[in-house]
Amino acid sequence: MNEGNGELGAVCGVCPRHCNLAEGSIGFCRARKAEGGRVVAANYGRITSLALDPIEKKPLAFFHPGENVLSVGSFGCNLRCPFCQNDSISQHGEDGVACQVATPGELADLALRVRRERGNLGLAYTYNEPLVGWEFVRDCAREVRSRGMLNVLVSNGCAEAAVVEELAPLVDAANIDLKGPSQEYYDWVGGDFAAVCRTITTLHAAGCHVEVTTLVVPGRNDKEEDIGEIADFVASVSPEIPLHVTRFFPRFRMSDAQPTPPATVRRLAEIAGRRLKRVLVGNL
Ligand code: SF4
Repeated sequence: MNEGNGELGAVCGVCPRHCNLAEGSIGFCRARKAEGGRVVAANYGRITSLALDPIEKKPLAFFHPGENVLSVGSFGCNLRCPFCQNDSISQHGEDGVACQVATPGELADLALRVRRERGNLGLAYTYNEPLVGWEFVRDCAREVRSRGMLNVLVSNGCAEAAVVEELAPLVDAANIDLKGPSQEYYDWVGGDFAAVCRTITTLHAAGCHVEVTTLVVPGRNDKEEDIGEIADFVASVSPEIPLHVTRFFPRFRMSDAQPTPPATVRRLAEIAGRRLKRVLVGNL
């Protein structure tokens, strides 16, 4: 995927970081490594988390409400949000987490079995950042589709266009974080604002059901103009896209911070609701 030869070895084209990796070394996301002159997914088929979750937990509020989806995660992430809620898997590489190994076909078979026994929409790619291991998402999604089930992507959206364009036709629903209103905010979390906006636009244009989540972090993105700019962008893609405005709780490197006041979350949701038809509050 847009890979090339760099000064050190191989350049990864999966996300805007474009890590230039010497043979055998690991990328910033800890999920990809240079091997044989190419950058490959070190987390392919390596499962750290597997659970049958309500679809509302993704969060997706308007996609098969009341149903469950088998949710799978691996390790690694290309962002460094200091408030990460899944740092035990997202901020570690293969040496730092316990994994089970599964092929795409095995996971899809499991999803089908769970569907028969307990009800299940298909597979959700979530918990860590799935796009840093996008090849596994692609291969699983094909297997899931071939068994008549659905694919759900839960992502920070910070990936290059070619990755998103290849996955988009396979993804039935997605929740993409739009964490802040600007590159300045994304500098804080180590991401690329324009890439995230492009991902939302691409998935929506491909016919995927898209919902967006913004976590309100006190002192960082809790001004009225912040949520106004986020809502303006989402509305420019479609005012029908649901926006989840969610409350921050102390986590990871921000474990000493104060949670977002519920009144702030409600006020910002009300402002977003002036531009968007469906705005929800979360974590209250
Ligand atoms: S996906 Fe990982 S290895 Fe590739 S550019 Fe992004 S952080 Fe670097």
